[in-house]
Amino acid sequence: MCNKLKSNLDFKIIIRSFIIIFTVFSISSIFVYQQTTKKFHTNTTKQICLKSQLVNKDITNIFENKKIISDIIEADEDINNYLMEVKDRKDITTNILYPKFIKNFKHIMESYDDIYTIWVANEQANFYIDTIGKSNISDYDIYKRPWREQAAGSDEVILTDPYIEYGTSIKVISIIKALKQDNRIIGYVGIDIKLDNIFTIMEDYIVGEKGMNFLINKDYEFIYSYVGENDEDIVFKNKLIERVKTLDKDYRDYRKITYKKNKYFIYHNEIDLNGWRIIQLIPENDIDQDINDFLKIMLIIFSIAAISLLIIIIIEGIMYKLRENRLKIQARTDSLTGSINRSYFMELAKHEFCLAKKEDRKFNLLMIDIDYFKSVNDNYGHHIGDVVLENMARLSVRLLGNNAIFGRVGGEEFAAIIMDIDEKEAFVAAEDLRTKISNMDINTDKGNISINVSIGLTSMKNSDIQLKGILKRADEAMYEAKKSGRNKVKIK
Ligand code: GH3
Ligand code: MG
Ligand code: MG
Repeated sequence: MCNKLKSNLDFKIIIRSFIIIFTVFSISSIFVYQQTTKKFHTNTTKQICLKSQLVNKDITNIFENKKIISDIIEADEDINNYLMEVKDRKDITTNILYPKFIKNFKHIMESYDDIYTIWVANEQANFYIDTIGKSNISDYDIYKRPWREQAAGSDEVILTDPYIEYGTSIKVISIIKALKQDNRIIGYVGIDIKLDNIFTIMEDYIVGEKGMNFLINKDYEFIYSYVGENDEDIVFKNKLIERVKTLDKDYRDYRKITYKKNKYFIYHNEIDLNGWRIIQLIPENDIDQDINDFLKIMLIIFSIAAISLLIIIIIEGIMYKLRENRLKIQARTDSLTGSINRSYFMELAKHEFCLAKKEDRKFNLLMIDIDYFKSVNDNYGHHIGDVVLENMARLSVRLLGNNAIFGRVGGEEFAAIIMDIDEKEAFVAAEDLRTKISNMDINTDKGNISINVSIGLTSMKNSDIQLKGILKRADEAMYEAKKSGRNKVKIK
């Protein structure tokens, strides 16, 4: 009983620990997942912040050239005079000031790597001279230049968006200052910077192995794009701009986007130039990697714990069932003779009695007591007495067969229930049992021993309401057998 309880308890503990492990695993997974994601974003934002600062610095460095414009203008006091003087394209090369400009410009260019060309445009005569010798271009039209309006409208040095350099296919960005005389525009001084310089910077500062960088102006037009111009790319770029519009102008805020089946985090940050913004895309895989590694470890630990627990539960379950069965059998069996014990015999007797009553079947009860058994013990010893009990029980079970229920109900007292035969037939069976027992030679180390039994027999009658009455009658019949000389079967 104690064993059974303990086993049950183990089982519960295992299930509970299983639930606890599972819960702890789930909660810690969620927690660590969140922490890992948070850590990833903190690290990424740090990198993004750093790289976007560097991009900012490098790009703004390029446009530090804004200062040079003033240097140029200051260094060359003749620019204004020259622009006023030259009224026609043909005057350009004949004017003695022209070679002087070229020399000055080239000199300045030598000290600035990023400058592609320095130029001057004349508003009145609609001509243009620059350091790479594209002057006197006959079809040059200042009024069609994309920067003209912006430059003319400002007294400051302006920075243009990218456009195609005149007479070439090169994309440039220009720093331009309108030159004025008595509030009238006479021309422009400009510095062209090749877009390639900016592209190199953007490529240099990509975050992670598969990140992407973009540069947009304040009208959300791409100055630099990591992806190309095919349909898919254009759709992607439009979507990117849509997302960027919903983001704060701060690298700490981010959104997600998919490009060619890969997911990216979008970060963006304004730089100190014309309201331009750097957009930085970081592949989500980078974070997945971190999380996957963690999840893999957790999964392995959990699987080992779960499988071990499962095995323990199964083994425990099997052991528990086996133990339970064994205990059940033990609780029902008489350990010496192997036949069923008193309590189980009584349980079965009640059950059979009910059946017999309900189904109107015949029910015979035999009480069997060994005669003078005390003297067997006295003469041969207790252990020989045990051997006798064993042999007697074995023979009885064999003779009565499967149709009868045979049990040990006392020290040297046995009982049997035989169903479905009438009293006469039961008497024959009892007689048969009695004679076979008395004829049996029990082989012991103290020689052969034989015993007799007295049997009381009774059959269920209509007046029998309870088993108790039948038991009592069988007992009385057995005592009558004793009284009348033993080794007999008596019916009552
Ligand atoms: P009667 O013919 O009147 O039945 O005489 P008896 O000696 O058989 O009856 P009694 O009730 O006086 O004695 C029964 C004896 O059975 C007493 C006890 O020592 C013995 N006995 C009971 N259980 C066991 C057992 O498990 N092993 C052995 N060896 N002896 C047992
Ligand atoms: Mg007795
Ligand atoms: Mg006896």
